Amino acid sequence: MPDLKKQFKICPVCKRPFHNRKKWDSRGIWDQIKYCSKKCQNSRKPTL
Ligand SMILES: [Zn+2]
Repeated sequence: MPDLKKQFKICPVCKRPFHNRKKWDSRGIWDQIKYCSKKCQNSRKPTL
C-alpha cells in the first residue's frame, strides 16, 4: 500500500488539510511545502 495517504499537512492559512502532489513528490520538495497553494503562501506574507 502506498503511504501517500499519510502525507498530508494542514495549511496554516486556510486551515485545510492538503495532500502531497505528484509534482512536489517528484521534485522531492514535499518537506518544504507549508501551504496548500501559492495563493495561501502569498497571503501569509505581510502586506503593508
Ligand atoms: Zn491554504
